[in-house]
Amino acid sequence: MIRERKDGSVAFSCEVFPPKRNDDIYEIYKTLDSIKLLKPDFISVTYGAGGSNSKKTAQIAAYIQNICDVEALAHLTAVGMDENGLKSLLFELKKKGVRNVLALRGDRPKTMTEEEYENRYYRYAADLIPEIRGTGDMFVAGACYPEIHPESPSAEEDLKHLKEKVDLGLDCLITQMFFDNDTFYRFIERIRKAGITVPVHAGIMPITRANQLGTSVSLSGSSVPLALSLLIAKYSDNAEDMKKAGIEYAVNQINDLKAHGVEGVHIYTMNKADVTMEIYEETFK
Ligand code: FAD
Repeated sequence: MIRERKDGSVAFSCEVFPPKRNDDIYEIYKTLDSIKLLKPDFISVTYGAGGSNSKKTAQIAAYIQNICDVEALAHLTAVGMDENGLKSLLFELKKKGVRNVLALRGDRPKTMTEEEYENRYYRYAADLIPEIRGTGDMFVAGACYPEIHPESPSAEEDLKHLKEKVDLGLDCLITQMFFDNDTFYRFIERIRKAGITVPVHAGIMPITRANQLGTSVSLSGSSVPLALSLLIAKYSDNAEDMKKAGIEYAVNQINDLKAHGVEGVHIYTMNKADVTMEIYEETFK
């Protein structure tokens, strides 16, 4: 099981996602074989809300746990899940030796109607936590949003629900990606004041291709500061320079977070081992 650091040093972790095509599973294994050399505290694997790819999430988590010998954190989503589905997924993970999960609500998948979504069995990530805790010894992480969750009416409302979620028994939080550290520092101040004491791992997404802004970043709802958009505008025609500049931006973000006493840094690797390793060299080595 994941053990949070207690000595004041900064935890380093990564996220990968299952490949779309079954044939590409060996590509992610190759990526993991490289990332494991950095000895991360854990590697998380995403889960398709509604259950798509769920078998691959468990399969890749098992590879991380048993072959890479790194703690695997399997994401799972409430959307599309019922009690039996949750029980059998947890059983499957435990059978594979995976004892860490990131409990999420998920968003409405395209294959689900509005009505199906509205009538879902588990409404929020919080609803999963007592059930997961009830199955015995597991490490349970949750998501949080330094810029507030896009559907939330206010920062106060979002914080209230975050506190409820943590109080149900979360071991740590992992943030949505953010590109302005001051937003993160203000968020940490707010949640600590509200009595949330669990470790928070700061989610860092290296922007190494200009088109990431139109995909993962816009889906996340995270805002892009002027400095980053200027950088993208400057290098968008030169893939090599864009990659270098994106790595440098992430490195600066991480070194500043470390200087401000962050508890953990979680890299959204986009399955790119080379980018992750370069960032690690400049920040943790
Ligand atoms: P929740 O904590 O349930 O919150 C969702 C919204 O509901 C918030 O606005 C919250 O304020 C509100 N809320 C909570 N409780 C209540 C209540 N009782 N009454 C009223 N409102 C309430 N998605 C995937 O599909 N697969 C993944 O693998 C995945 N990995 C992720 C990893 C991280 C680190 C993060 C930050 C996000 C990830 N997501 C993933 C996206 C996530 O599923 C979405 O952001 C989703 O919209 C919210 O999930 P949540 O677990 O934060 O939801």
